[in-house]
This record gives sequence, C-alpha cells and structure tokens, in this order.
Amino acid sequence: MTVTTHVVSVSGGKDSTATYCMAVERGMPFRAVAADTGNEHPATYEAVNRLHERTGGPKVEWVKADFADRIYAKRAYVEKHWRAGLLAGTPGKWVWRPLSSWVAAGMAYPDAPLVPLDQYEGRAPAVPHEHGRWVWQQGYRPLTEAEADEVVETALTWLRPTGVPFFDMCIWKGRFPARKAQFCTHELKVGPIDEHVTRPLLAKGNVISWQGVRASESEARRYLKPFQRLNSHPDLPGRLIVYRPLLRIESVDEVFAISARHGVPANPLYGWGLKRVGCFPCINCAKDELALVDEFFPEQIDRLEDWEIGVSKCSKRGVSTFFNIINDPVMQAEWTASENLGRRLVVSPEEHGIRRMVEWAKTDRGGRQYSLLARDASTVCSQWGACE
Ligand code: SF4
Repeated sequence: MTVTTHVVSVSGGKDSTATYCMAVERGMPFRAVAADTGNEHPATYEAVNRLHERTGGPKVEWVKADFADRIYAKRAYVEKHWRAGLLAGTPGKWVWRPLSSWVAAGMAYPDAPLVPLDQYEGRAPAVPHEHGRWVWQQGYRPLTEAEADEVVETALTWLRPTGVPFFDMCIWKGRFPARKAQFCTHELKVGPIDEHVTRPLLAKGNVISWQGVRASESEARRYLKPFQRLNSHPDLPGRLIVYRPLLRIESVDEVFAISARHGVPANPLYGWGLKRVGCFPCINCAKDELALVDEFFPEQIDRLEDWEIGVSKCSKRGVSTFFNIINDPVMQAEWTASENLGRRLVVSPEEHGIRRMVEWAKTDRGGRQYSLLARDASTVCSQWGACE
C-alpha cells in the first residue's frame, strides 16, 4: 500500500498558522515543518514553537540550510582566482540608455559625446540615436598588487560559516538577494524543507504539501489551483501534490478567525503594524514596515548594518546592501544619472546601506507609501507559500 504523508509548511505568519489549524481540524496525522532562516524575530520563533501546545497538533520541526561546504568552496575559489581578476580589472562596454532614463533622472539629453574621447578605452563613441544613446560604461580599473592582496585577505577573513543561514547564504553569494535575484526563498526555505522532509518522504510514497496561500493576495496567486500535482522531482514523478486550503478565503479576518478558534493568538508582530512576519525584515517589505521595524525593533536594523559590512567584505567589488538602492527615489536618481554618463556610482554600505534606506522610509519622499519592492511579485514565494 502506498504511504501518503501530509506536510504543513509553517512560517509563523497568519496564513500558514491558519493552515496548520485547518489540518488539526481535519483530524488526520500530519507533519509540520518550518525553515529557520536566522532572520526571524524572536516572537516568530515563539509563535511557531508553541503551536502544538496551543492546538494539540504536532510539534513543528525546524529545518535549517547549511552553507558551510559552499563557503569553504568559495574560499578556495577566492584564493585561487580573485587576485588575478582584480589585477586585470574589467574592461568597459557599450550599454544602451533609453531617452526615458534621461527624463527619469531630470537630465538634459546630450548631443555631444558623453565622455572625453580618451576615456573610451580605444573604442570610438557611438552615433547618437533619437530614442537613446549608446554609452561607454566604465569598467573596473586594475588594482595594484597591494590593493588586490587586501581585498583577497579581507574576504578570506570574513568567509567563515557562522551558522546563521541568511548571513551565510549572503557571504557565500557575495550579495544580498533582491527582487530580480530572489534566491533566498529557495536557498533558505524550499531547498532545506525538500532536503530534510519532502524528498525523504517522497522516496517512501506520496506527499500532500499544505500551503497557506490565498488567491486574493496577488495576481500571481489568483490563478493557482486548490490541488496541483508538481513535477519538481523527476526521479519520483507524480508523488508530490500541493494542497492550498485557504485559496478561496478572501478576508484576513477570516484567516485570523481560524487560528482564534484553536486558541492561537496572532503573531504579536501584527499588533505592531507589520504586515509580513517571515524574515524580519523581508527584502520585499514595504516602506512603512521598514520605518516600523526601525521604530520598535532598532536592534534588527543594527544587525542588518553589521550584515551589510560582512557581506560587502565577501563581495569582489566590495559592496552589497540589504535593499537595492534604487528603491529610494533619491538614490535611484543618483544611480540613473551616473549610468547615463557611463560612470559607475561608487556605492558603499555606509553611504547607501540600511541606515540611509531607513531614513528614506521615515519620510514621505516619493509622494506615496510604495513598497520597497512590489508585493505582487510573482516569485517562487507565491508558488510555494514559503514566505508570507
Ligand atoms: S522572500 Fe523575504 S521572507 Fe522569503 S526568504 Fe526572502 S527575505 Fe525571507
């Protein structure tokens, strides 16, 4: 007889908590699993850890990504290859800058070549075009031997696993995740849950994976189905079925009510005005949420500031910021103006990092409270429901 195991993914947020409670109501045995990213608020750990006490359901099993092997592999790569690359530098290249980018930056559209001829690194300037300009973008200058040695030594000093998954992932990658490179959900949540729970269960039979997503949350989720057979494991075909019991629930109040009837209080972070309680903060958090994090939990901002310094040290170009700087309209204008002129904006965590983003988050600059990144992002998060 084929074994079928129900698995509920929990994040500490309202939707996954309600999903867990619905599984308790159905009365069948199930396993519950949460991924520890190392970037959660203590209240979220407590909310997850107490679910079984409050409901009589199963204890939530934590899984955690381990980047130690990948960090040691990167150390070997840095030792072997970075120095030569830094000494060689990176040549410039032609990039297309549309007319709209000059308008966005409030710049006069140039008729003349954008940089002196001797800065084209031996290449002729491009012919002006009515819809934009080809711009010669500066490369990276070759470093001196002393400079290259310092970059390599600094990276090797910082490239050591800490056991904090989010930070370790970033020093391994040499950067923070971003909307267009949202590797965090897979590396920190989907992958570890699959490795430690889903795949071993699929080897024995079928898995029904309960995911707390609602169609009304976003355009991307609107077209999801309550049941979906996934082909994510070609060697174990047809065994993984996703079940989305909240899919047709429209209201957030209804979601909270499901948990309330089991005596499960809302994660206290909602009471502070936060709308996302997964990673704290999430790279997709809204501007007003970042301001709230700074106001009520400034230690989280201190932590991100430390992380930005560490991750920047492990980046070949010496910088990575938690939020993409173009989310701040002022920094975006600086960036666009610089790109239009083919110059690399010199970015640093001190000048463009979390502190500056927080300052922007506390203002009305930009005229509206828009998300640092769009909430309706069609990402792996919306597919798996792993991040709220
Ligand atoms: S998308 Fe947000 S909540 Fe999900 S792993 Fe990335 S930072 Fe964390």
